[in-house]
Amino acid sequence: MYINGYWVLSSDGQTRTVLNPATSEVIAIVTEGSAVEAKQAIRAARHAFDRGGWPETPARERANLLGKLADRLEERAEEFARLETLNNGKPLREAQYDIQDAVNQLRYYAGLATKPHGQTYEVPDSIQAMVVREPVGVVGQIIPWNYPLVMATQKIAPAMAAGCTVIIKPAEQTPLTLIRLFEIIDEIGFPPGVLNLVLGAGDPVGSELAANPLVDKVAFTGGTETGIKIMKSAAETIKKVGLELGGKSPNIVFADADFETAVDYALFGIFANQGQVCSAGSRLLLEASLYDRFVPELVRRAGQIRIGPGLDADTEMGPLISERQMNRVLDYIEIGRKEGAALLCGGERLTAGGLGRGYFVAPTIFTDTRPDMRIVQEEIFGPVLVIQTFRTEEEALELANGTKYGLAGAVFTQNVAKAHRVIRKLRAGITWINTYHPTFNEAPWGGYKQSGNGRELGTFGLEEYLEVKQINISLDVKPSGWFSNG
Ligand code: NAD
Repeated sequence: MYINGYWVLSSDGQTRTVLNPATSEVIAIVTEGSAVEAKQAIRAARHAFDRGGWPETPARERANLLGKLADRLEERAEEFARLETLNNGKPLREAQYDIQDAVNQLRYYAGLATKPHGQTYEVPDSIQAMVVREPVGVVGQIIPWNYPLVMATQKIAPAMAAGCTVIIKPAEQTPLTLIRLFEIIDEIGFPPGVLNLVLGAGDPVGSELAANPLVDKVAFTGGTETGIKIMKSAAETIKKVGLELGGKSPNIVFADADFETAVDYALFGIFANQGQVCSAGSRLLLEASLYDRFVPELVRRAGQIRIGPGLDADTEMGPLISERQMNRVLDYIEIGRKEGAALLCGGERLTAGGLGRGYFVAPTIFTDTRPDMRIVQEEIFGPVLVIQTFRTEEEALELANGTKYGLAGAVFTQNVAKAHRVIRKLRAGITWINTYHPTFNEAPWGGYKQSGNGRELGTFGLEEYLEVKQINISLDVKPSGWFSNG
């Protein structure tokens, strides 16, 4: 752990083993933090914010530090990508993409740090009204395991640009790339206490970040159930809360879509990163007249996805993150069978050719579903696609919006007006027309409904780390004359 500019081990000597999910081999043993270290880190961040001078550091200097971090990370991109794959399991080319994305995020917010922040207003009574933005303060950041480094830089970069101080906690399963990023942070010399790394379990370490009164904001990416707990404990101190949660996102394909493109993105939408993507297109909504042509092709291609360890050059889909996650996904597949959905392909753990040492699940597709089935309503977070069919635009939208989630969604059609009509009625924060998944650091990321609160990335993401203050300046300095006793 990295607290107040020093590397520290947990005070009680506890450790945790970190596994390679492709082989279940131990690849690292890390110190296991507790509420004690979380509290130390929070005090360090509080001190750095209140008395260390960080919020007053010129924006240019903060931008320079972020720029250096981006450069050093980019120099070591391949090493980071391999470590991410080793720890998370994702195919190497996905990890390479992630690391470049992390570099881009750091650069984007380095640029934004020095851009105009204020406003002035024309108001009466010889007053000049102005608005300035100030850092929110001490921020606790809690990260999931599916994009270990990108989810961290997505939170660190805007917080640094804004002038906040940070305590960040990676997921228990995937701490390695973030630990290494802190080695670079240490080399570059961010002031002590500005960036702190704590390791350990969601409860007690993450929960301390959410509950502690010295923390001004908690930013969380993870499951909706955990998000609810965090929001409840943050409520006690009226903390600002940013939540990026789960999804069950609809991918709507009309019969007039470009066939090749729609099949390709239906696969990419769900099977990229083994389906462990909050914005995955986990529900395929197909216009009924297209079904007989589309589904056999989809199933054929799903069966051709090359599955193996992420470090193998030709791997297209890797293992799930852990035995627990694999069993959760297999349980959902069993639930789908019992609910009466028809399994078109997959539905099992893969063990042949040495895969049995890791946590591999075959690309799985269910059809003959009903909207009330659990496999249609609940986030599985694995390589499991459910197909729903519709006959009209209205029915497509009713199905699309028919879950508690509202993170993402796509529509495939060559009819421009229909595409716009449908996408505007989709209750989701991240949407696509005739593509799936591409998003960029310039644009806001976040969900409607129970998929979250607030936005990350882009200028919206910076706003979440800033308070807004109005300053009213008298241009005619004299008593108000309100009371007659002057
Ligand atoms: P998770 O909620 O189990 O854990 C996420 C993080 O929260 C981990 O660091 C964990 O230690 C911590 N945590 C667990 N319990 C906690 C508690 N009581 N208090 C504070 N922190 C606690 O989620 P996960 O299994 O790591 O990740 C998968 C989930 O994340 C999926 O639901 C996925 O949709 C979601 N996700 C969302 C986005 C998004 O941007 N919306 C991105 C990635 C993942």
